[in-house]
Amino acid sequence: MEGYHSAQVSVRVRLNTNESPAAPPDAWRDAYAGEISRIEWHRYPDRAATALRQAIGESHHVDESQVFVANGSNEVLQTLLLTFAGAGRTVATFEPTYQLHGHLARISGATVVEGERADDFRLDLAEVDRVIDSAQPVITFLCSPNNPTGMVEPAENVHHLLDRAPGLVVVDEAYGQFADWSALELLDEELPLVVTRTFSKTWSMAAARLGYLVGPSWLVSELEKVVLPYHLDTAKQHAGRLALRFTDEMDERVRQIVGERERIAAALTALPVQVWPSGANFILFRPLTIEGHDVWRQLVDRSILIRDCSGWPRLEGCLRVTVGTHDENDEFLAALQAILSS
Ligand SMILES: *Cc1c(COP(=O)(O)O)cnc(C)c1O
Repeated sequence: MEGYHSAQVSVRVRLNTNESPAAPPDAWRDAYAGEISRIEWHRYPDRAATALRQAIGESHHVDESQVFVANGSNEVLQTLLLTFAGAGRTVATFEPTYQLHGHLARISGATVVEGERADDFRLDLAEVDRVIDSAQPVITFLCSPNNPTGMVEPAENVHHLLDRAPGLVVVDEAYGQFADWSALELLDEELPLVVTRTFSKTWSMAAARLGYLVGPSWLVSELEKVVLPYHLDTAKQHAGRLALRFTDEMDERVRQIVGERERIAAALTALPVQVWPSGANFILFRPLTIEGHDVWRQLVDRSILIRDCSGWPRLEGCLRVTVGTHDENDEFLAALQAILSS
């Protein structure tokens, strides 16, 4: 197997891993420091992470029994796969999409069936039916907005999968706050649907490694049997619970990033590149006059790092840029313009 790689190069402008360009609010940091000083370090954490799950549940108007938390949404995905997938079972993805869905499924021992998206990266429902009917997957992954394309999955497609798929439908909403609708609206105790979220992107807390899912409470109980006991440390439980007191600040940041995203998207349309519509905090584009990889390297020479997807299957020549601060975005756009007009 190949591992999961993302270059960590030391540069001035880092726009490659879809993090927030801003640190969390100072008031959050101070509140967290206060809690840290009061932790009973000789005791195991609250195994059920009750206060954190209650706070997350309140933020989505669901019961805490419908919330499962783990060390990053990647561990949430891994726990789902350890619980429901594994050897002799099949998991479906629709490519191109987030690489870890297939990767973690294979690690669980499952067989991964990769459906193909249409040329414009939208879901092709005839292909969906073909994959579901032939593979009978225990888990079908969607990612909305999709990483790396940025495209939001229309609600009809999630409904279609829920009607058709024999197993669980998992919608990865790592970028859900940047989009105009969320599959959280469809959640129901009777539906085999889960939505995963993370504190790594909108919440400016990639360093904390905290993610969660919302789904039927029976499913959360099954996951609790599989995940390691005391997997979520006390400090992290405080970090997430306190973060949820700053929802207004975070909503404001999301508005700013969406504004910057639209500004970058508009600027890109004036350059010789192909651009895909994004509902996330990043934009996928393909330079048309110079090889994507060369453009990426020339940006690195100017100390600007974006994601080089040019060698990935189905994404020939494509690059993905994370929305940064206003100044970082200006630097990126000026550099790209200079490279493409040289
Ligand atoms: C960034 C990202 C995640 C986040 O993973 P964490 O483990 O929570 O940091 C999950 N899914 C997708 C699609 C992502 O792009």
